[in-house]
Amino acid sequence: MTMTSITPQNLIALDQQHVWHPYASMDKPPPAYPVVGAHGVRLTLIDGQEIIDGMASWWCAVHGYNHPHLNQAMKVQIEDMSHVMFGGITHAPAVTLAKRLVDLTPAGLDKVFFSDSGSVAVEVAIKMALQYWHAKAQPDKNRMLTIRNGYHGDTFGAMAVCDPVNGMHGLFASVLPQHYFVDAPPMGFDRPLQAGDLDELEATMSKHHNNIAALILEPIVQGAGGMRFYSPQWLSGAAKLCKQYNILLIADEIATGFGRSGALFACDHANVAPDIMCLGKAITGGTMSFAATLATSEIATSISRGEASCFMHGPTFMANPLACAVANASLDLLESNDWKNQVDELNKGLTRLLTPAVSLPYVEDVRVLGAIGVIQVTQAVDLGIIQKMFVAEGIWVRPFGKLVYVMPPFIMSQEDLATLCNGMLRVLERYFGQDYATN
Ligand SMILES: *Cc1c(COP(=O)(O)O)cnc(C)c1O
Repeated sequence: MTMTSITPQNLIALDQQHVWHPYASMDKPPPAYPVVGAHGVRLTLIDGQEIIDGMASWWCAVHGYNHPHLNQAMKVQIEDMSHVMFGGITHAPAVTLAKRLVDLTPAGLDKVFFSDSGSVAVEVAIKMALQYWHAKAQPDKNRMLTIRNGYHGDTFGAMAVCDPVNGMHGLFASVLPQHYFVDAPPMGFDRPLQAGDLDELEATMSKHHNNIAALILEPIVQGAGGMRFYSPQWLSGAAKLCKQYNILLIADEIATGFGRSGALFACDHANVAPDIMCLGKAITGGTMSFAATLATSEIATSISRGEASCFMHGPTFMANPLACAVANASLDLLESNDWKNQVDELNKGLTRLLTPAVSLPYVEDVRVLGAIGVIQVTQAVDLGIIQKMFVAEGIWVRPFGKLVYVMPPFIMSQEDLATLCNGMLRVLERYFGQDYATN
């Protein structure tokens, strides 16, 4: 037998030798924590230690891990079929899910394209916008307009609309399509719209609308590009400008969808109905990689009457039945668990536990929206050092740069939330305390 056997002793070494991790060096690989199980809001490390997960595996595990209803849905579906091609074939899990998504999302989003990850859902959205204007005999409308500090995924089309600095556009400048960027909206969910707030957006639209296919943005919450919150008024203002200048609106709800921001979809805060919407991350309750792009009938029909007579996309694993089945089960739980109440309770807890930190000398800003809590510190943290401190504290928090943030599973109890937030504050105190000691 030639297969290498994995033991607790050699697991980390083999991992560092062979396995790439997200945005990680393969020259000096940082150690990763072996996880052997996950239940509720806890991850079990290989040495048996249980840590409280503040990340919900990057916005996904909204119902917690190993949920019996999700597991059961997958087991039942496996017995029928884990997968079948979607070309020329259909199945109940996909059709049921499409109908439910159409019913839950803002009015007009009637046509659902399933794919396998968020980045692909964004590629699909961009391609839909381009094919739409091509079909409308306006092929020069082939650029995107977007706001700085955005994050839309790591594939080339998606990367081209990510923040140019965070997204390291310089590295790929020669291959990335060039799009239009305007400054991110002013911060603050509750900030009243002020004169001038939409000026740059309007000026860009007014000057370049003949070349702009769509405005793509993350509504209300800009996630991985800066954990920034902005106001529903700005969003609805931007949506109105899109109509005025004949520009499509693509709402990337991959991070915000399914309740995270305190509304089922962040667009709902502003009663905005986009032309195209991307969903992913929490769609399967954190169990499987899956995504969807929804579009209006006007877009779908126009594309289908264009030169190609169809939308030019079709992933191999499109509408994977196992993923559809567990996505349906996750929607059951959102309804039966009363997601709104869960998120509101987490919001109160996060606000109470984190807001006092704003007075600390090493804290620049504290912001909470829905079940998202962000502490922005004065200096970027060293992930290698701080990660160990969080684990020693019994919690899982994965900051980036100056942003130390949590978005817990919706099922987290107030007691676990307090352990998580207080642990986070203790770690920051130890991490920065020395430098800021006032005596
Ligand atoms: C995570 C994310 C993506 C990319 O999704 P992947 O599944 O990682 O490809 C796109 N847009 C937003 C807003 C995201 O948060």
